[in-house]
Amino acid sequence: MADHNFDLVILGSGSGGYAAALRGAQLGMSVALIERDKLGGTCLHRGCIPTKALLHSAEVADVTREAGSYGVNATFQSIDMTAVNKYRDSIIEKLYKGLTGLVASKNITFVTGEGHMTGPKTMTVNGENYTGKNVVLATGSNTRTLGIEITGRVITSDQALQMDFVPNRVAILGGGVIGVEFASIWRSFGAEVVIIEGLDRLVPNEDPAMSKVLERAYKKRGIEFKLGNRFKTVSQDDNGVTVELENGEQISAELLLVAVGRGPNATGFGFEEQGVAMDRGFVPTNDRLQTNLPGVYAVGDIVPGLQLAHRGFMHGIFVAEEIAGLKPLRIDEWGIPRVTYCEPEIASVGLTEAQAREKFGTDSVSIYEYNLAGNGKSNILGTAGVVKLVRQNNGPVVGFHMIGSRAGEQVGEAQLIVNWEATPEDVAPHLHAHPTMNEAIGEAHMALAGKPLHAHA
Ligand SMILES: Cc1cc2nc3c(=O)[nH]c(=O)nc-3n(C[C@H](O)[C@H](O)[C@H](O)COP(=O)(O)OP(=O)(O)OC[C@H]3O[C@@H](n4cnc5c(N)ncnc54)[C@H](O)[C@@H]3O)c2cc1C
Repeated sequence: MADHNFDLVILGSGSGGYAAALRGAQLGMSVALIERDKLGGTCLHRGCIPTKALLHSAEVADVTREAGSYGVNATFQSIDMTAVNKYRDSIIEKLYKGLTGLVASKNITFVTGEGHMTGPKTMTVNGENYTGKNVVLATGSNTRTLGIEITGRVITSDQALQMDFVPNRVAILGGGVIGVEFASIWRSFGAEVVIIEGLDRLVPNEDPAMSKVLERAYKKRGIEFKLGNRFKTVSQDDNGVTVELENGEQISAELLLVAVGRGPNATGFGFEEQGVAMDRGFVPTNDRLQTNLPGVYAVGDIVPGLQLAHRGFMHGIFVAEEIAGLKPLRIDEWGIPRVTYCEPEIASVGLTEAQAREKFGTDSVSIYEYNLAGNGKSNILGTAGVVKLVRQNNGPVVGFHMIGSRAGEQVGEAQLIVNWEATPEDVAPHLHAHPTMNEAIGEAHMALAGKPLHAHA
């Protein structure tokens, strides 16, 4: 059995793992990056990138349908899933090639195969030992299924991304991020869609103001949703799948997408056997991303918290810098920007109104909602929505929530405002280019600073 020694050994090459590898190499470490599948992980191959490519095809379909209202003569005919998938794969392939080249150019040792922790700082892959002065666990997440068998007509996002046809009618279990994104895609592609959500609103992790606008938009788009009702059973036969809800209602569809969240992929690789403390399958860390074992770090989706690719990137960079002794700034979970890429998109950062009232006291918080009806660019694009700000009285903006087409592109400024603890008065004097949707952020801050411009209330 051969032994290989490195400064840094990383298990898993998704967003968290490869970011740690790149930053570690940049800082002069010798790095081994172990991967059983493809460099890039969930985000690149089965998550962020393919879903956003499909959402872009969906947007093109919607724009084509509505072309006449913009004075453009075009007719929507149909969706060619083979061509959609070819476009999606071309994006993945290009990014995959770029990332592979980047990793190779940094002299990172890429090891192909499933790794198992066989010593506190040793991973064994295909009979070879890779020992690091430090190791990073970055094995990511899997779809949760709540005990529902994934087979035939009952699928997860993994199978949904491989489909070569548009279903006639699809049921989606879960009205969170992945559920509402697929609902958006399939509806734009022409399917009937029904979402089943156990809580009383869509996107239940967002501020309720976002759920309200999304529900109105989905109703208008003909997307059905059943709220406040959990599923009881799922059955399927040659003709379709039936979901029975706890209230006895039965929902039939051609396919059922199970989108009830993702769980950690951290068991079966020897972590526990080597003494890594686990919590319900996750690998908890301190705020320096260290596990209970010295020199063993964890990053990305296996660490309890938001399961987002950019959190993984930042975790990876943080760990490499921490090991190098650079004392990076702690990553505040609450300041991580979040985007849901359905149509209309939702962008948020910081606290919801309820969270802020709970944290600072009910009367110590002010809110302002700026309606995109007053925003020129939103009118040009034909989108409805709001910007909702939550501020601590006489203090900073602690929550930003926006819904509208392309709202995701606005989250950058919002996350600087929230993370830099800017007050509305700090933001109000700064110009926002006209006509942009970004202007709505400026307008909302001006209004909250007591000097509204294009605002009726
Ligand atoms: C449908 C979908 C859409 C999403 N959209 C977005 C989005 O728009 N924006 C966003 O920020 N996030 C999105 N996410 C979430 C995002 O993909 C994850 O947060 C991110 O990929 C987590 O990175 P990670 O490095 O922790 O894990 P992963 O990306 O899951 O990578 C883990 C890697 O480890 C490998 N591995 C696991 N075990 C072993 C082992 N024992 N040996 C060797 N290799 C191993 C796996 O093969 C995998 O490549 C989406 C997820 C899904 C499923």
